[in-house]
Amino acid sequence: MQVDLVIQARWIIPVEPESVIYENYSLVINDGKIVDLLPQQTALEQFQPQSLQTLATHALIPGLINCHTHASMTLLRGIADDLHLMDWLQNHIWPLEKKWVGESFVRDGTDLAIAEMIRGGTTCFNDMYFFPDVAAHQAIHHGIRASAGLILIDFPTIWAENSEAYIEKGLALHDELRHEPLISTPFAPHASYTVSDQPLQKIRMLADEMGLPVHMHVHETRHEVAEQMNKTGQTPLQRLSELGLLTPNFMGVHMTQFSEIEIADYAKTGAHVVHCPESNLKLGSGFCPVAQCLEAGINVALGTDGAASNNDLDMLGEMRTAALLGKGVSQDASAVPAKTALQMATLNGARALGLEETTGSLVPGKAADVVAINLDELETLPLYNPLSQITYSASRNQVSDVWVAGKQLLKNHSLTTIDLTALKAKIKDWHSRLVESSS
Ligand SMILES: [Zn+2]
Repeated sequence: MQVDLVIQARWIIPVEPESVIYENYSLVINDGKIVDLLPQQTALEQFQPQSLQTLATHALIPGLINCHTHASMTLLRGIADDLHLMDWLQNHIWPLEKKWVGESFVRDGTDLAIAEMIRGGTTCFNDMYFFPDVAAHQAIHHGIRASAGLILIDFPTIWAENSEAYIEKGLALHDELRHEPLISTPFAPHASYTVSDQPLQKIRMLADEMGLPVHMHVHETRHEVAEQMNKTGQTPLQRLSELGLLTPNFMGVHMTQFSEIEIADYAKTGAHVVHCPESNLKLGSGFCPVAQCLEAGINVALGTDGAASNNDLDMLGEMRTAALLGKGVSQDASAVPAKTALQMATLNGARALGLEETTGSLVPGKAADVVAINLDELETLPLYNPLSQITYSASRNQVSDVWVAGKQLLKNHSLTTIDLTALKAKIKDWHSRLVESSS
């Protein structure tokens, strides 16, 4: 049988089935999809590839899924650090956004994020920001998979003047993008403290009808929970539950305040948790009890959050932090093992985004979203177990090749769809403008 591409790799870690590592196997790709995984010799007997790539010292893993980010905020990377969430948002980020956010900010910031993400092995990102139309367009242009969140926040911004307008613009965008194979459009109400009941009820109704995910910051800090308790006598989770939002379509991002009883109740709803350990640590918000969530059967995915609060979009780094923090918080070294960290960064993300049939594991029939990591570097030698090396030792600089839907976006460390020199020049331009405005 003729096929587009056969990749021969030293190791293939498909994530499904769990705990399997194939040695000296080939991944067979045709028409953007995975056709087969089989021993290298058998693959060459059964398939005639148009292109044959040999990665003799590499591991192939499913493309990493960054399940929560604000891509264009990469332009604000490092502009305001070492601050608590509300001080950071109200006194720094929101005023800067008010002044600067527009189509070109989102376009250039998203390009920077996409370039960084591809180079680090991310093949899909779940975005929440203004101008999701622009972010979706850039993702399509550069060939990366994206969930362009239909943002909603109570206050007027350059994107929309009130909640009806946010929803209307979101629905129009969903309609416009519904045949784009790389793009999905979850609802993205910002947070419990920034969106009132009526628009949330509307979103619940629309999400149920249209089968779309809902992506929201929830219980990010102790302050958020205490303030809502004082105002209304309810925690944000209680309120969202009462509004009927906690369903298998719901992604609660952060969840640093999450008691045993809340975890048990949340698990029953089938809703997902998106864990952003580095952002939570950096903003001093605490940490999500991930080991307990996993034990309760909650699907936990991983995200970096925006680069203004992380300050990178490094999913391999996030996997390592999640594994280490999970062990530290539960005081159990067996909590969040290497294979679980990888599953959180791949398959669990696909499940949370409703993309499980499309991506998240290297299984025949799914899209060829694939990442090659070269493990023949000093930093990952000697090599007893490739999965351990990837989670605990490898850096994103070891990501050598990346494919999304069979299209190669990173080839031997070089981006194929982004001009790095031109991009850097644009970002330096933004830097000059932003520095001038704040001095
Ligand atoms: Zn966020």
